[in-house]
This record gives sequence, C-alpha cells and structure tokens, in this order.
Amino acid sequence: MTKVLAVSDQVVERIYVLASSGHFQDVDLILGCGDLPYTYLEYLITVLNVPLYYVPGNHDPVYHPRVPLARAEGGLNLDLKTDSFNGLLLAGLGGSIRYRPDGVNQYTQPEAFMRAYSLMTRLFCNQIRYGRRVDVLITHSPPFGIHDEDSTAHQGLKALNFLIRVARPRFLFHGHTHFYRNNLEDAVTRIGQTTVMNIFPYKVVELDEGVE
Ligand SMILES: [Zn+2]
Repeated sequence: MTKVLAVSDQVVERIYVLASSGHFQDVDLILGCGDLPYTYLEYLITVLNVPLYYVPGNHDPVYHPRVPLARAEGGLNLDLKTDSFNGLLLAGLGGSIRYRPDGVNQYTQPEAFMRAYSLMTRLFCNQIRYGRRVDVLITHSPPFGIHDEDSTAHQGLKALNFLIRVARPRFLFHGHTHFYRNNLEDAVTRIGQTTVMNIFPYKVVELDEGVE
C-alpha cells in the first residue's frame, strides 16, 4: 500500500500546520499536479521527507533542470516521463489547453496529442517490462468533457481521453479546474478502468501495488 499526498493549484495554508504537526507522517509519496509555487513543493518534500513527482501547469515556468526557479528542488519532473515507485507505475503529462498565444506549458489539442504519442512510446516499454502500461497518470489538465469547463482556458485535453483509452491507467490525477463545492461526485469520475480525480487543492489517497 502506498499513501499519496497529491497537491494542485492552490497553496493550502493549513497544510503547513498539518504537515508540521505530523498529520502526513505516514505519507510515502507526494504528487504535484501543477500550478503551485515550487517553494511550496520543496517545503512538503523537506517536512515529509518523501519523494515528489510533479508536472508543470500553465502558470508554472518552462521547466529547466539547471535553473532553480524553473524546477522543484529535490522533486522529479514527470512531464512526458515514466518511473516506478513502490511497485506503482507513474507517468506524467503537464500543461493545459492553449488559450494565450504567448502562454507557456499550453498546447493546442493537436500539440497535446503529439505529446501523448511521445509518452506512449515509454508506456509501451512498460507493457513489455511490467505487463501493464501505467498505474497513475498525473496531469495538470483534466480530460476533455470530464471535470473541465466550457471556458477556453479550462477546456480539457482530448489527448488525455486518448491516453485513458489506450494506456488504461488505474488513476488519473489532475488539477487546473477548481471545484469549490466539496462534492465527491464532482471531483471523482470513473471512466473505463480509470478513476479520474480532481486533486484541487489536495487529496490523500491510498493505492494498492499495481498488479496485472
Ligand atoms: Zn492551470
């Protein structure tokens, strides 16, 4: 069993108190779904002393491994990458729909498909090596038509619906769209074999080891 603290989009001041009082001490892993200050992610790594995987959101800088402000120190940027942790296969796809010509980490629907195709290459390698493609897909954007909104900036990426169909993750964790009502039905949707969860602003989730 792996206990995950997933965070997204909004700094929750209460997390500082909860974390420093040991509330998350049995958390094994932090997953960041984007649009959070890297100082916040670095604080969580330091206090919980567990690994962090994250993807950038549309309000984050363009990732650069050697620029301190363009990465979360001590975390692993999982955008277009895969990794395994405690028997869980992880993969990431950052960014959102393009809604400003000069915006960073924003992609048109066809551009997002090209990124998903490049991730699929790695997921097919997982299939050969582990007998399955991915357990947890972390993204910033929601899929199209699931937890997304009609506004141009909050439309979901169709490439994620494609990845759900083809890679069949057990979980897709995303951010970007903000639900202020604490309604579980709004934040968790089952589609095929995948449970899609809106992480905003944070969730604690327990995950079984991946099995085929
Ligand atoms: Zn966003």
